Amino acid sequence: MERTLIIFKPDAVQRGIVGEVMTRFEKAGFKIVGLKMLQPSEEHYHKHYEGIGTLKTRKGNEIFESTLLSMQEGPVIAMVLEGVEAVSTIRKMVGSTEPKSALPGTIRGDFAHVNYNQATTTGRAVANIVHASADLNEAKQEIDHWFKKEEIFDYRVVHEHFTQPKS
Ligand code: UDP
Ligand code: MG
Repeated sequence: MERTLIIFKPDAVQRGIVGEVMTRFEKAGFKIVGLKMLQPSEEHYHKHYEGIGTLKTRKGNEIFESTLLSMQEGPVIAMVLEGVEAVSTIRKMVGSTEPKSALPGTIRGDFAHVNYNQATTTGRAVANIVHASADLNEAKQEIDHWFKKEEIFDYRVVHEHFTQPKS
C-alpha cells in the first residue's frame, strides 16, 4: 500500500479549513497514519523544496525564496495518508499548482483562485492550501524528513474490508 505526505500550509491553517479539506481524504477512504502540527525551520523547508524537491532548480531562486518565507508564516499540519495508489490519486484530488488553473472539484480549485502573477507582485508563493508528494520517490523521502518512525501508526480502517482478499 502506498503512503504520501500532505502538508496543510499556513494559509489553510489560518483560514480554518483544515478539517474540511481533511474530510475529503477521509471520505475517499485514505487512512491517516501520521498527523501533527509543527513550525519547521528554514533549513527544514530548504531540504523539503530543494534536495528532496527541485523547486530552485526548476523555478529559480526568487520563487524558491518566497516559498520558504511563505511556509514560515505560521504553523503547518503534516499528515501521512495511506491507500491504493495514494500518491497519484491524492495529487489528482489536490489539483494544479496554480489555483487559477486548478479544476473545480480539486482542493486548490475549490478553496482558492489566485494566480502566479498576483503572488509574484506581492513577493509571496502562490497560496494553494496543501502540499502533496509528487511521486513515490518524493513521498518516501518526504515522509522520512517530516516524521519519525514512531510517529507513523499501523491499524485497520473499515475501508480495508473492501480492499483485502475475501476470507
Ligand atoms: N510556487 C510558486 N510559484 C511557482 C511555482 C511554485 O509560488 O511558480 C510554490 C507553490 O506554493 C508550490 C510550491 O512552490 O506549491 C512548490 O512548487 P511545485 O512546482 O513543486 O508545485 P506543487 O508540487 O506544490 O504542485
Ligand atoms: Mg512539488
